[in-house]
Parts: sequence; structure tokens; C-alpha cells
Amino acid sequence: MSGRPARAALLRAEPRSGIAGALVAIAIGLAGCSASGQGGDRPAPPAASERAPAPAAVRPPRRARPAAPERAPADRCTRVVIDPGHDSEPNPALEPIGPGSEPRKPKDPGGTRGVVTGLPEHAVALSISLELRRLLRAEGYCVTMTRVRPTGRSIGNVERAQIANRAGATLFLRVHLDSSTDPSRRGSSTLYPVRRRGWTDDILPGSRTAARALQGELVAGLGTRDLGTVARADLTGFNWSDVPAALVEVGFQSNPAEDRRLADGAQKRRAARALARGVRRFTPPRRASVRSRASRAHGLPTAGRLVAAVRLPAEGADFFTWDPVRKTSPNRRWRRHGTDRLVRTVLAVLDRYARAHPSAERVGIGDLSRSRGGDFGRRFGPVGHVSHQNGLDVDVYYPRRDRRERAPRFAPQVDRRLAQDLVDRFVRAGAEHVFVGPSLDLHGPPGVVQALDGHDNHLHVRLPPG
Ligand SMILES: [Zn+2]
Ligand SMILES: [Zn+2]
Repeated sequence: MSGRPARAALLRAEPRSGIAGALVAIAIGLAGCSASGQGGDRPAPPAASERAPAPAAVRPPRRARPAAPERAPADRCTRVVIDPGHDSEPNPALEPIGPGSEPRKPKDPGGTRGVVTGLPEHAVALSISLELRRLLRAEGYCVTMTRVRPTGRSIGNVERAQIANRAGATLFLRVHLDSSTDPSRRGSSTLYPVRRRGWTDDILPGSRTAARALQGELVAGLGTRDLGTVARADLTGFNWSDVPAALVEVGFQSNPAEDRRLADGAQKRRAARALARGVRRFTPPRRASVRSRASRAHGLPTAGRLVAAVRLPAEGADFFTWDPVRKTSPNRRWRRHGTDRLVRTVLAVLDRYARAHPSAERVGIGDLSRSRGGDFGRRFGPVGHVSHQNGLDVDVYYPRRDRRERAPRFAPQVDRRLAQDLVDRFVRAGAEHVFVGPSLDLHGPPGVVQALDGHDNHLHVRLPPG
């Protein structure tokens, strides 16, 4: 439930905070993880459970946590724990809403369900979460999931938080869908823990920063109404978390239009991409997806070789790779090598492009060079390349008007506005040449941007030597 101004905000002084006037707004009833927030966290319907003491009225016991927290595994990578909300069955058993707390809530009262599609929240949350895992791994993160399939009875929110704690997560990211009794209510919000001494004071700053980053990217990526970030005192999964935690309410399954959109694969992928960017903004991966090397381009693009190549990853939050011979994604790894400078230039351009067009699809990247460069002609597949021999060339597919993630085949399928923007960005990034299709009317500095047959479905970027 949500949008119930009745309970508006409860205001109270923080227990023994010693800071006069420190007030904590508890947004019970203002925002709702739909059906529940994290499971046990459905803001209670006004009549029923609000007779119970408001969660915040409970003073967290001092030293709720062990003095020496469990040792987290020493990851070389940045670890994100993704928690797809709910499960195929609710779990009515009670659990304390925080360490040592008297008040208890159901472990998981169950999620919501699409008003039109009938899709359960746990299924939509899971498919967004699995897609998000793929993208984060591709970008070099380590990912732990609280579940990877419907497993029956929900484990509850204490256990979810403890999975994140044991993993020593940099971020505990919880994925939910919202619902409201008002079918017109729509949009995205992100919840984070309110300050509760002994429970969440240590994780509040990081959680709030993460929530803002996730919310910003989600709203931009989905083009949804911005319902903002909301501090919550009543979420068991937050109160038990020892690592920064945020819960995204991607959209309202109680709103017919939003429900239909969220049932669509493309929209779920868009949500996952936006969340991956939010994670990256909050904390870039310690272990980069691209290793740095002192690569060298020898000879010419048409007669050369490549030393100490860097491989472009199979995909990322901003791009997919496309195999022009097999016409599938990803491209084979031996076709994805370039100089360190080329690969970094491509990633930087795509990052800026994605920021400028947060709701656009990922850009398709085709062939670069072979791992040691050299001939990339017809024996490597129909057409082949005359150039692409020394790690300075890359093919970039034009964005499609139908927004599908695959190479366009004909000029009319190309989104010209986005294609021109990509051309401009590669020119600004220092391309020596950008070859474009003659039918597309793409332009740029003469001598740099040149029309060339065979380029009506991709632009070919060449960096200068050295
Ligand atoms: Zn939920
Ligand atoms: Zn090319």
C-alpha cells in the first residue's frame, strides 16, 4: 500500500540521541514496498497493525551487534548482493524487526501481483535481478543472489540481510515492485534505512548515497515518474543489515499501464541496465572488466599486427557485442581485440552516450581485430575486413529505430538522430576516420567522417596511430 497520507509521517525524537531536536521522519504509509516491502515489510494497513507500537518507538538495545562482526570474505572484486523480493510462497512466521527487538513481523507476507497481467511480483523481480546479475558480472563485479529461482516458502528478511552480511557486500540491493489501492499511482521509488542507533547508523550514509544513485538512474532509464528516495524504519531487512542497503520499487503493478510495461522483456532489461548504472555510480568495480596493458599497433590498419592486445568484454551495461558472421550476440572473443587505447575509447564514448540517452538501448559493437592482429579477410567469414589489422579499428552498429538489440540490416532501420550522436562522439574522442553509410546522410568534419559503401548498418571508427 502507499499513498495513504493518513498516517503521514510519525515524528519523534531519536532515542537518546543527545542531539536536541533530532527528528526522524518515518515514512510509514507514505511509500510502500508494495505489498510489503521486503517481505515482512508491508506497511501495515491503517486499521490493522498500526495499533501495534510503531516500529520506531522501540529503542534498539545498545550493542545489538556483536562487537567484532563476522569476518567478511576478502574479495578482490566489489561484491553486490542482489535480493529479488519475496518468493513463490509467503512465510507468515514472525521474526524480530531488528537485532534484539521485541516487535516482530511476518518473515514475508508475500508480494503483489500485476492487476492486468496477473504476474506475481516475485517473478518480475527475479527476472530483473537475473539480468542485473549478468550485467554486473560483465562489468567486473562479483554478485551473490539471495535466490536464483522460485524456491517455495520465502526465507524471510533476517536471513536475506544475513546473506548480505556474510558476503561482506559493498551493496545489498533489493528489487521489488510496488502496489497501491489507487490504480492511478505510478512511478519508481527507492527506499533506504532511517537512522536507528545500534542498527542502521553505521550503514545510513552509504545506503542513502546508493539509494540516490539507483533512483536517479532508474527514473532516467525507465522514464517513470520520480517518487524519490524514502527513509524507512520498519524494514526488517534494513535493520539487520550491516552493509549499505537500498530497496528499489521499480514500478506499480497495481497501475494497468505500468504493469503491462513491466511484463515486457525489454522494459525489464531497461530496468536492469539502469540499476547496473546506479551500482556503478555508487561504487565502480575494484576489478576492472578490462585489464590495462601497454599494447602496440604495428604497421597499417590494412597490413599490420597487434601486440599486447586488450579484449573488449562480451557485454556491459552500455553495450552488447555482435558477431557479424553468425549474426548473434555476443561476438566471438577472438574478434574483440584492440589496443588498450581503442578499447578504453570505446568504453568511454559509450558511457557518455548512455548518460546522454539513459533510456536508449545498448549500443552494438562488432569486430575489432584478432588477438594478434593481422589478416581479417574473407577466410574469417563472409565479407571480412580489408583493415582491422592493428587494433585501431572498430565497427559500431547504428542504434535501431525499433530499439532491438541486434545489428540493423538496412538504412531505414537506423535511428538517424542517435547514429549522428554516436558519430559526433567518436569524432570528439579523437577518431582519425569515421566511415559511415552513403544512404544515411550522416555528417562531420570532412576528411574525418567519410561515406563508404557497405556501412549502412554500422559506422567504422579508426583511431590514429600512437
Ligand atoms: Zn515487494
Ligand atoms: Zn570496419
